[in-house]
Amino acid sequence: MPRKQNGFGNFKVGSVRRPSNDFRVGKIQKAGSYPSNNTFGSVVKRSVIEQYDMNSDWVRWRKGMEYYYQGAWLRMYLTDERGAPVLDGNGEKIPTFLDTILYQGSTNADGTVSYEIPVEFTGYRFATNASDSSNHYVVKRRVQSEPDLGVVTQVYSDKDKIYDVGGGLTVDAPLNFQNRELWVQGQGGSRLLLKTIGERITDGNTEATVKYALNNLQHPAIYIGKTEEEAKAKLTVTIPLSEIASTSFYSNINGNLQELIGEVGSLGAFSAERNITNEEFVDGDYEFTVNSDISDTGQTFEILDNPTDLPAPLLDIAAMAKLFETTNASFNLKASYTFIKQHYQRFFGNKYLTADLVKSELNLVSYTILPFTINSVIIKGANVEITALPFENSVELYSTTVGNYLIFTDYSFTKKAPDAYNGGDWQRLDTDVNPWQDEVFTTSNPLTIADIWCCSCPSYSNSIIRMPQSLAGDNKHVNNRQYRYPLPTAMSKVDFQNRGLANAAGIVQSWETFAQRTRFKMCKHTIAAMFIEHIKVVEPNQYPSVDARIQFEEKLEKDMAAIKDELLMSLERSELTTVELVYTLAEGLNLDEVETAAVLLNSKF
Ligand SMILES: [Zn+2]
Repeated sequence: MPRKQNGFGNFKVGSVRRPSNDFRVGKIQKAGSYPSNNTFGSVVKRSVIEQYDMNSDWVRWRKGMEYYYQGAWLRMYLTDERGAPVLDGNGEKIPTFLDTILYQGSTNADGTVSYEIPVEFTGYRFATNASDSSNHYVVKRRVQSEPDLGVVTQVYSDKDKIYDVGGGLTVDAPLNFQNRELWVQGQGGSRLLLKTIGERITDGNTEATVKYALNNLQHPAIYIGKTEEEAKAKLTVTIPLSEIASTSFYSNINGNLQELIGEVGSLGAFSAERNITNEEFVDGDYEFTVNSDISDTGQTFEILDNPTDLPAPLLDIAAMAKLFETTNASFNLKASYTFIKQHYQRFFGNKYLTADLVKSELNLVSYTILPFTINSVIIKGANVEITALPFENSVELYSTTVGNYLIFTDYSFTKKAPDAYNGGDWQRLDTDVNPWQDEVFTTSNPLTIADIWCCSCPSYSNSIIRMPQSLAGDNKHVNNRQYRYPLPTAMSKVDFQNRGLANAAGIVQSWETFAQRTRFKMCKHTIAAMFIEHIKVVEPNQYPSVDARIQFEEKLEKDMAAIKDELLMSLERSELTTVELVYTLAEGLNLDEVETAAVLLNSKF
């Protein structure tokens, strides 16, 4: 009985390196090796050309069109706690399934300026046979206000020109071209701009992904540090015993404060800027470290009552029900953050980057403390001391001047305009914009945060999201079906970029690089979702060979037939909240890897 061969094919010494005319007609197989029995667990090794075609934007576009034409998707709706659709006044289902906040809790040092942006999520489910839940989720994040991020005053897009920008500074466009970075200069805008690394921003026509922001000296306007896995942040919150003892919550737990262990505590939505004061900057060879020990009084502290399966950081915390809340809390956060010098050194030329040099250009630090799991509760005199489960944390340091220069990855540009052929109801999205040739940021409109589409599939997220075994339902060991997805060998990669996320390795494995994160991300599902919402994605110009195209169309037809069946099956599954949705929403809120891990680890899957 023929058995499938192993993934390396059947190598016989005599059969390799024969001249090509030795191939028998009719036995010609495409390059790459394929198992004879292509079932679960078999490994298909594709040739380079095939791999290119599979991953090309054109293939994503073509498949996305087909999903759209075939109606192979379901819209998501707002549901109640039992999962039943919520109806509006007209008896219609409500497509906005989540209202929440982007950059939640972000304020300036004295709390007078908020950088929060209300956002709403709508979404679609796409059937797939390659994920644990048989669904991929596409969510669209729509911003509900348009924060002013300043206007672009100069685009340095002549790749043969070194621009003299005064003050002894130049913009070396030929070098930037090599680095695949387009630099622009801007004016106005708030420090929100510094929080938009990895964010899509737009002037209403041109859209691109922010890679970096520089100050007026062309030095980094923001530095991002992370705690080490073995030295997590420690948070202690102190509240007056008398306040909690007078609540009905206290009587409900019969005064046993140990009941708080495992509950979710929150310092409100906390993401505050502070002046750099007693933070200790320590220099190292490849890294520098900032040791911080901050305390504050008169703080909000809440124990959250979360009836949903979505973790608190994804929700509008202010709008959530609370089991207990006080504004008389104090807290202490001790953490040590590492910064990688290599990420910043190039902006200082021949000047060696030291912790002291960095410190001399900075004046603000921005701490984010996400809702946390309560680890211990101790009564100390008239107070209750609550300790959080130690967590990984990140921190941002800001330059004294607001970003004067913005750096965009040159492969992230798109342009959107009303589509003349469809009477204005449609828009046209061109994903083949080359900012070194095409004019970009020409509207003189202020820059603002763009609407984005995110998807849970590996092709979009560059990650594999696992359903923890407990959810398999029947207690049987279930292998993740996504493992069939051809993975790069970087699967187990743990570097600074993915630090934090490594902590959640049981739930998600990501091989996403910063370069991938800062491109215009799209997959067949997001393209289909855009068509559904009347955004016509223009056919990418890198389409495959005629041969590959014909084969592709045949395969697509078969795949779509299979998807239709899967879709019917997944219709029967009413459960919407899954780890994939959580991960996709985290991406939609531009949470960093550390925050995303916290969200995943604090979810009830
Ligand atoms: Zn997708």
